[in-house]
Amino acid sequence: MNIAIIGTGYIGSVTGACLAEMGHHITFVGRDRRKLDAIDAGKSPIFEPGLDQLLGKNRERIGTTTDIADAVRKTGLSFICVGTPPKEDGSSDLSQVREVSHSIGKALRSLPTCHTVIVKSTVLPGTIEDIIIPILEKESGKRAGIDFGIASNPEFLKEGTAVHDFFHTDRVVIGTNDPRTRELLEQLFTPLHAPVFSTTIRTSEMIKFVSNAFLATKISFANEIGNLCKEHGIDSYDVFNGVGLDTRISPSFFRSGLGFGGSCFPKDVCALIAHARTKGVNPRVLSSVIATNDDQPERMISLLKKHLSVNGHTIGILGLAFKPDTDDIRESRAIPLITALQNEGARLIVYDPVAMDNFRRLFPGLIYASSPLEVLDAEAILIVTEWNEFEQLDYRGKLVIDGRRLNKARKEAAVYEGLCW
Ligand code: NAD
Repeated sequence: MNIAIIGTGYIGSVTGACLAEMGHHITFVGRDRRKLDAIDAGKSPIFEPGLDQLLGKNRERIGTTTDIADAVRKTGLSFICVGTPPKEDGSSDLSQVREVSHSIGKALRSLPTCHTVIVKSTVLPGTIEDIIIPILEKESGKRAGIDFGIASNPEFLKEGTAVHDFFHTDRVVIGTNDPRTRELLEQLFTPLHAPVFSTTIRTSEMIKFVSNAFLATKISFANEIGNLCKEHGIDSYDVFNGVGLDTRISPSFFRSGLGFGGSCFPKDVCALIAHARTKGVNPRVLSSVIATNDDQPERMISLLKKHLSVNGHTIGILGLAFKPDTDDIRESRAIPLITALQNEGARLIVYDPVAMDNFRRLFPGLIYASSPLEVLDAEAILIVTEWNEFEQLDYRGKLVIDGRRLNKARKEAAVYEGLCW
């Protein structure tokens, strides 16, 4: 198939590269020519393991453009993969989705053939039917489900293992009210051999939010229980291992520590909270999930203060990315942690294998170490991201406050405080 991928961020570039690997012809649409030039050269515009190889290997089936109309004309299927960042009040900023919907709609007007629009961006229930379809219909003068296809196809992959997750997904969710579009998408995803859950557009949109909200809830629950375990001298990891053996619960995402970050969990839970309020539903559980998550960096600082006062002292930070194997720092726990430490007068030396350039834009005033060894010279070391290379360091004689449970640090540090163990 000829497929347009609109948006070349984490989701767009992975989706396009993986579909190219499946033999499809891909046209990436982006706004940033530098990112498109990277793709043209067979290089990934983001740091994601395995992506360079796929883009390089499938170069002959991959093209790029900044012109949405051009991409829509050349293809039969467009995936909307643009961002849906949070607004100040937690609700979703749909301006990128609206903008590309207008452009796709205009392109559809003069298109003689049937085109299908798939929304991969995470959007709240009702967004496709109440906002995207009306824009597409108005701009194109055509009818959704008759003259052009439309579907929701939320993405569940995880940054850091995105390529693997795409090809080994637990399920494909297809939300559409139109049998022709359903059939087309079922065919497209057949090679993944994954269970396909076909449903309505609104239900599909909701499935994505509920999946993220549930996983975030599991983490905040683990953190609350983990904080309590620590007070009892109990290792919360042992508790969750024991509890997770219950197949009704499962061990996955059942870990305590510094909390969740990234571009999805905080944003999607906050958007669901804001959305629930507009519908007159009090989101008590979801609000506590965010509050518990917000407390964990403060808890790390309290544990540090048991051993060292912060003002005027040099604190080392290992890890800035919101999790290992990504350069994404969106909502990283390093952000509130470093902000609080700076406010208290700490001198901070930080290191991350790939996320330092992104972090420097937010915090130009920190000391960026050229190797993790420099961080180890600080008076105290705070472990924020569980990069594998941090397991190789020598923590002997060090004061370590660990938010991610690095085994080597736990065994070797002279003074060691695990956040929830
Ligand atoms: P991102 O910010 O990394 O990428 C979005 C891209 O869209 C940017 O490169 C931006 O330049 C581009 N864009 C915006 N307007 C455009 C336009 N008019 N024309 C062309 N390109 C345009 O975001 P992301 O992390 O890839 O997420 C995209 C969507 O997927 C979001 O809704 C997100 O919630 C969802 N999602 C993300 C993940 C994840 O792990 N990152 C997982 C599942 C779902």
